[in-house]
Amino acid sequence: MHGDHTQAVRPFLIGSTWTTGQGQPFESINPATGGRNGLIGAASKADVDFAVRTAKAAQARPEWRQMLPHQRAAILHRIADLIEVNAEELADRQMRENGKLRRECVTQAAGGAAAYRYFAAICETMPSEIAPSRGDHLSMVLYEPYGVVAAITPWNSPLTLESQKVAAALAAGNAVVLKPSEFTPTIALRIAELALEAGLPPGIFNVVTGLGAETGTALVAHPDVRLISFTGGTATGKAIAREAAGRMAAVALELGGKSPHIVFADADLDKALEGVLHGVFSSTGQSCIAGTRLFVERSVYEGFVQKLATATNALRVGPPDDAQSQIAPLSSFIHRDKVETMVDMAREDGATVLAGGSRPGDARLANGAYFLPTILGNVSNSARICQQEVFGPVLCVLPFDNEADLVAQANDTLFGLAAGVWTQDFPKAWRVARAIEAGTVWINTYKTLSVSVPFGGFKESGSGREKGFFGIRTYQEPKTVMVGL
Ligand code: NAD
Repeated sequence: MHGDHTQAVRPFLIGSTWTTGQGQPFESINPATGGRNGLIGAASKADVDFAVRTAKAAQARPEWRQMLPHQRAAILHRIADLIEVNAEELADRQMRENGKLRRECVTQAAGGAAAYRYFAAICETMPSEIAPSRGDHLSMVLYEPYGVVAAITPWNSPLTLESQKVAAALAAGNAVVLKPSEFTPTIALRIAELALEAGLPPGIFNVVTGLGAETGTALVAHPDVRLISFTGGTATGKAIAREAAGRMAAVALELGGKSPHIVFADADLDKALEGVLHGVFSSTGQSCIAGTRLFVERSVYEGFVQKLATATNALRVGPPDDAQSQIAPLSSFIHRDKVETMVDMAREDGATVLAGGSRPGDARLANGAYFLPTILGNVSNSARICQQEVFGPVLCVLPFDNEADLVAQANDTLFGLAAGVWTQDFPKAWRVARAIEAGTVWINTYKTLSVSVPFGGFKESGSGREKGFFGIRTYQEPKTVMVGL
């Protein structure tokens, strides 16, 4: 599959209408080859306005608003069925757009379907509440949809990230206007098409493709958008929160990370080594929860880091559709260049390259956006490379002397998304897990994900939570109804 090589502009979806929009179409490029995937239509401010008004009207219609929860759930299950039937095609599509390993894309397609099933189950089982009465009245708490939810997503994992937003927002009774990343524009288009096929009323799930500066800003600024659910960089998240505050629109923000991954001397070091490699280099490091600051207890530091460097140099860098590949290209050439610049900056600051540090020499990979998995030593936690998110296959290694020193360094970051701890001393693991400021902490595992637990960040890694039972509440407003008796 090599994508669409024609000049035809790929349209986007408003209601049940496919339109190429009034914005300037943009190119989708395959980062593994540099080849074109095709031209994509861009939604102008007027197109975005039409999409939001279409969503608002559809959400207000009884057809959706009064649909019983088990009927809504049935549609979500049918969307999951269709994602499963089309999983291979969806995986290929994502691989062509962001260069992710094909097997990772297949797993993510299954994860997308699982999100629709999970929120379908919540949709038909979630209760309203009767609060304890403080007088001669009945006090009820109901959960209402916001109305129109804007979903804005990044390029690293659209199959899962977009599904977990859209499934929860729909289960809660909202209508959605989704703007996918300009680097991965067509996965959402395909899933919205499948949603129509599954029987979702037109206008309840709309997709507007385009750049952040035009389409994204227009969506965030639209007065009829009542909740903005954003996943992406911290700087973009702050800009969105500022804009939303002007009209008291709600925001749910899943932002960046610089997660500490901790190895105590008493850990099962072989398992820890596997966990550290997977934790930072899966998805070529383009993961918000990547364990990018490795803290190793000083007594085992030298040996552990040496083994890690050897294992890193042995990772097979190759095309995403080659089953032997372990490290795929970065998602775009512009992003590869950014990662390269940050590694050069770290070198200038005095870091020592212990593995990788450059593009691969392999001529077969010369046309793709590849960068070798990289380990940097001789860095302090306050160095720029330890404080700024790289979002690529770059690991910083740091020794620590004791638990107090470790916790202070691990928490010395603006971010608070995730952390990992390896030790066989459970009370110690527990103390550290409680002391680390992060939305998710893994003990003797890393990057284990589940739709059934809440996910989100402390500090500048975001606000609000997605997934888990409470994930649906992110897309609802509580309403109190009191009945005098
Ligand atoms: P980004 O912030 O550049 O873009 C994300 C989305 O926002 C894109 O669709 C983009 O077009 C849009 N956008 C950009 N500027 C906008 C604006 N002013 N108004 C409205 N929309 C705008 O992020 P990215 O480079 O696509 O993704 C990488 C970032 O995403 C990393 O920082 C990573 O940590 C983060 N991320 C976080 C999570 C999480 O769950 N916490 C998951 C994945 C990625």
